Amino acid sequence: MKYMSAEPFRIKVVEPIKKTTKEERLGWLREANYNAFKLRAENVYVDCLTDSGTSAMSTNQWAAMMTGDESYAGCKSFYNLEESVRDVFGMEMVQPTHQGRAADYIMASIYCEPGKYAVGNMHFDTFRGNAEVMGAYPVDYVIKEGLDTSSGEHPFKGNIDIDKFQKLIDEKGADQICVVIITVTCNNNGGQPVSMANIKAVSELAKKHKIPVVIDSARLAENAYFIKTREEGYEDKSIKEITREMFSYCETATMSSKKDGLVNIGGLFVTRNEDIFLKANQLAIVHEGFITYGGMSGRDMEALAVGLQEVCDVQYLEYRVNQVKYLGDRLKEQGVPIVEPTGGHGVYVDGRRFFPHIPQHEFPSQRLVCALYEEAGVRAVELGACAFGSKDPETGDPIWPALETMRISVSRRVYTNNHLDVIAEALGDIYKNRDSYKGMKLVYEGPIVSLRHFTAGFELL
Ligand SMILES: *Cc1c(COP(=O)(O)O)cnc(C)c1O
Repeated sequence: MKYMSAEPFRIKVVEPIKKTTKEERLGWLREANYNAFKLRAENVYVDCLTDSGTSAMSTNQWAAMMTGDESYAGCKSFYNLEESVRDVFGMEMVQPTHQGRAADYIMASIYCEPGKYAVGNMHFDTFRGNAEVMGAYPVDYVIKEGLDTSSGEHPFKGNIDIDKFQKLIDEKGADQICVVIITVTCNNNGGQPVSMANIKAVSELAKKHKIPVVIDSARLAENAYFIKTREEGYEDKSIKEITREMFSYCETATMSSKKDGLVNIGGLFVTRNEDIFLKANQLAIVHEGFITYGGMSGRDMEALAVGLQEVCDVQYLEYRVNQVKYLGDRLKEQGVPIVEPTGGHGVYVDGRRFFPHIPQHEFPSQRLVCALYEEAGVRAVELGACAFGSKDPETGDPIWPALETMRISVSRRVYTNNHLDVIAEALGDIYKNRDSYKGMKLVYEGPIVSLRHFTAGFELL
């Protein structure tokens, strides 16, 4: 559409943000033990820590919030949400939760068994934490192209490697695999999409061996948009036709509505299996709240009911995915090594190629997070040696992950391209001076290794 390349919205309310000096930022970084999670948000200029719960809501969402029905049981807002979820997911049974990890917890409680494998493309950290606590083995079987940050050829780098999945069935027996979880899009390697063909193939193989399939669907609409624009046969389908087909291949879906729900809080557990639903209801009552609110207020359910519809608008999705690509293109122009193609919700900078002289055990991507905050007050997040590092269960020796990146998340409908230019310029300058940076040392980690990035402390070397 000629001339129609700008945002498909205009700004009605603004939230001031603070400009700060480098000296101030160096002090705050020291106080935060060089962990971006411990910075005060008011001291951040452009916040790209996460795309979770940071969306700007629309006029229609704010209006819907006023109509929230706060009845304990059977509130109208639940039924509005249920109708919207059925429309987008094509599944009937809807249990709200207070956020995605609660749905993860319910899902893991129902599907995970101690000593058995949970196969995925790349499991999200909160599911991994839940699985770890329950004694299941989460294994990541993303295709090998998904781990190659330098090649931008493959259109669906979030796909599951079917051969690896088959090999695990052959070697261990299908009864040793308790669940398959397909995360759409695949956050851990760049917000990379999973193709419909792959979802279908994984589901067929799982079904043949009676292994249940779950879709972790925090970014369902972004994934559907990539299917529409990259996969043959889908160009003329609507986003909802695509989401409904995606979910037709699974038994259950979990969702953190803090992403593609376009709201600030909330989650969903959705299923087509009644036995599973009844179990989920009981777990929700114990841990979340009654079935018809599950930890959400009526007004939050109203906002989510509207957000799920808005996120399926193809004009919104086109703007969204192109804004992320805009940042990726600005970075590439300056030679900054990023994961290509850019995914749905952020740009991932390759820490190893950015700082080739900093070994992985000295946390190159974490160093980059600190450098970016120092330089421009921009907060990103490490997804590398700290977040994805693990330990050998027998020897306790560290295991370093295949991917070493810094994620710059782009919040939905929040920042303008001028903000993204600030990030590109600052990273370009850091890249020019990259030889002057040294690594870091991890001096504190919490008890659950897979979640240590939230609480870790570092020192500069
Ligand atoms: C964010 C997220 C979760 C956890 O959801 P919260 O709402 O943060 O609790 C689980 N899975 C995926 C893929 C996510 O992106």
